[in-house]
Amino acid sequence: MAFVSAPAALRTGAPAKAVTSVGSSSSAFAASSRRVQAPVAAAAAAPSGVVMQATATAKKSIKDLTAADLAGKRVLVRCDLNVPLDGKTITDDTRIRASIPTIEYLTAAGAKVLLSSHLGRPKSGPEDKFSLAPVASRLSELLKKDVKMAPDCIGDGVAEIVGGMKNGDVTLLENVRFYKEETANDTEFAKKLAANADMFVNDAFGTAHRAHGSTAGVTEFLRPSVAGLLLEKELEYLAGAVSNPKRPFAAIVGGSKVSSKIGVIESMLDKVDKLIIVGGMVFTFLKARGLSTGSSLVEDDKIDLAKELEEIAAKKGVKIILPVDVVAADKFAPDANTQLVSVEAIPEGTMGLDQGPKSTELINSELADCKTVLWNGPAGVFEFDAFAKGTYAIANTLAEVTANGATTIIGGGDSVAAVEKAGLAEKMSHISTGGGASLELLEGKVLPGVAALDDQ
Ligand code: ATP
Repeated sequence: MAFVSAPAALRTGAPAKAVTSVGSSSSAFAASSRRVQAPVAAAAAAPSGVVMQATATAKKSIKDLTAADLAGKRVLVRCDLNVPLDGKTITDDTRIRASIPTIEYLTAAGAKVLLSSHLGRPKSGPEDKFSLAPVASRLSELLKKDVKMAPDCIGDGVAEIVGGMKNGDVTLLENVRFYKEETANDTEFAKKLAANADMFVNDAFGTAHRAHGSTAGVTEFLRPSVAGLLLEKELEYLAGAVSNPKRPFAAIVGGSKVSSKIGVIESMLDKVDKLIIVGGMVFTFLKARGLSTGSSLVEDDKIDLAKELEEIAAKKGVKIILPVDVVAADKFAPDANTQLVSVEAIPEGTMGLDQGPKSTELINSELADCKTVLWNGPAGVFEFDAFAKGTYAIANTLAEVTANGATTIIGGGDSVAAVEKAGLAEKMSHISTGGGASLELLEGKVLPGVAALDDQ
């Protein structure tokens, strides 16, 4: 359905689509949400045409609601507006910008929008440094309308402000984590939060893996409770495109340790054609293959697991690709002495802190024919310039394969930071806004903030 008054970017004329935890897709959806996350250049790469696997877990989104459902309604929207602050100055407004399409969609339909979010980790009760007030100012600029800052997230003060709202107005409620009841998912708190609204929209992917008052509890009291555009898009790519990929499908899994990525690796072994292992976890796999790894990061208690994962991959016909050369350093420092060595000849007393050019070449050739690529975790200690080349090379390659029509998904955490630092975020099909939530979704877990929404 299309709202007559919705912003042009939202007026795609597309039928409403279900959000499903295992996957749904629509080109129209990709078009409507691409504005914030994915670039125009990635249009061809959006997973349109991906076969939908509708299940009982399909969730409603705001696109399933009619203009009549929204006009004049008080809509509580849980966003992830947890932005980094330097005093009162927002140092990165990505999350605010990512929330704009849903807000505009609702205001264009004549809803009264009540935004809620957490910010930082207040210990007990309100703390000025964790006030969302700076976010209200930025929202006003981005929305080009006055966004009122409420003094609280519950209570009479909020009720009074909401009572004075006109259709299309936006109010930002104060930090929900000023109440410890929020993270405890306390029913009475959730009831108070819901008291000023008629319906609920969850657009906070970054906190969807937490069952909190403002992500799950409120759904007990508000109907309908549906997904916003950002949450829908995250599910579309991280669950949809990953479950129903265009093949060949490769996952690049990196980062520091095997132990923190076991769930993702296991889950990917059921889905991918190629599994490319990069980063610190490489050395546990190399040691499991009987190679010497010097003083590289190795989890000795995970060597058997690495062997097992290789066996499982072989049985499933998944090709495992490991680096063939590394940048070996004499210490873990930005000014370490380095040498380029084959993985079969890592000298004693040195540690691999980045992949070498032959590995990059190998990975590039493996990715060349891929139609879907998921990346989670850097290929080296990219925080130090001397060991960032491999990670940036992957980012560059993914930008190229996206331009050639592949769907590329960057699944949270350090790989997102690397892609952003490389200035390539716009070139990927999808950059996830949620580190922990994206990891859990990729592991195949159900996110409570999604599970609590209305089924299709
Ligand atoms: P997050 O956990 O924030 O989502 P991530 O999933 O992208 O991040 P992590 O598992 O946290 O990845 O690992 C990232 C860390 O791995 C980086 O700080 C990087 O320096 C480190 N790392 C990468 N390669 C190596 C290596 N060869 N040796 C040691 N550490 C490495």
